[in-house]
Amino acid sequence: MEYVTASGVDVPALGFGTWPMKGATCRTAVEHALDAGYRHLDTAQMYNNEDAVGQAIADSAVPREDVFLVTKIFRQNLSHDKVLSSVEQSVQRLGTEIDLLLIHSPSRSVPIEASISAMNDLQERGLVEHIGVSNFSVEQMRQAIAASETPILTNQVEYHPFKSQPELLEFCIENKIILTAYSPLAQGRVIGNAVLEEIGTQYGKTDAQVALRWLIQQEMVAAIPKASSQTHIEENFDVFDFELSDTEMERIFDLQGGLFSRLRSLLGL
Ligand code: NAP
Repeated sequence: MEYVTASGVDVPALGFGTWPMKGATCRTAVEHALDAGYRHLDTAQMYNNEDAVGQAIADSAVPREDVFLVTKIFRQNLSHDKVLSSVEQSVQRLGTEIDLLLIHSPSRSVPIEASISAMNDLQERGLVEHIGVSNFSVEQMRQAIAASETPILTNQVEYHPFKSQPELLEFCIENKIILTAYSPLAQGRVIGNAVLEEIGTQYGKTDAQVALRWLIQQEMVAAIPKASSQTHIEENFDVFDFELSDTEMERIFDLQGGLFSRLRSLLGL
C-alpha cells in the first residue's frame, strides 16, 4: 500500500468505492476488498449501503483501527441540526465511528459555514475524526477552509484519464489537501483504451491498472475504484509493484487533450 499524507494523516492512496452496491452484494464486495488488502472504504448516506459496509467491517478479521472509513452527508442534510442528527444515524448504521466525514456536494441553500460548524462539533464529540468535502470548486474549498476549526483533509471529485481538474489539483497541492479521485476508471470507459493497453503490456498490467497507477503516482492524489467482481477487486489493488515513467505519465495526461499542460510544467513532469 502507498499513502497520501495530509495534515499528518496517512490515507491509503487506493480506496474502495461502494456505489451503487447495496445489501449482500455490497457486503460481499467489501469483504473481498478487505481480504485483498484495501484499507480505505468509501460510502455515503445517499448510497443506502452504510449498514452493509459497517457489517463487512465488523465481520472482517481486519482490525477496525486499520480501516480508514469515509462517509458523506447527503445534500438535503446539510443544515446544522440535520448534519448532527443524520451523522448520528450514519454512525449507528455503520456500527462504528467515522474516520473521514465529507459534505457530499455543496448545498444551494445552506451556507458552508453552518455545515462545517456542525461537522466540527461532531469531531469534538468523537463521532468523526477528520472532515472534508466533495464536488467543491476552488472557491468553495476556500470557504470551507476558512470556516473550519480543523483541516479540510480532502476534496473528492471526478478525476480520471479523460477528465482533468488542473486548477483544483494545483490548489490541493499548494494547500496540502488530498484530491480523492472518484470514478477513477471513468465508470469503466478506460477499458479498451489503446494507450493504456499499450503501456500496460510492458509491465504485464491491464488498462485499468495503468489508469489507477497513473492516478496514485500523482502528488496528493488518492483513487477509489468500485468493482463488484472479485477479479476486478483484486486486479485493481495490484498496482503497487510497477512505476510509470515520466513519458508514460505524460502520454496519459495527453488523453485529455493537453488541458494538463500548465499543471505538467508546474509538477515538472
Ligand atoms: P469507477 O470506479 O470508475 O468504475 C466502476 C466500473 O468499472 C464498474 O462498472 C466496474 O465493474 C468496472 N470495473 C472496475 N474494475 C474493473 C477492471 N479491473 N476491469 C474492467 N472493469 C472494471 O466508477 P464509480 O463507481 O463511479 O466511482 C468509484 C467510486 O467513487 C464509487 O463507487 C463511489 O464510492 C465514489 N463516487 C463518489 C461520487 C461523489 O459525488 N463523491 C460520485 C461518483 C462516485 P464491476 O462492478 O462489474 O466490477
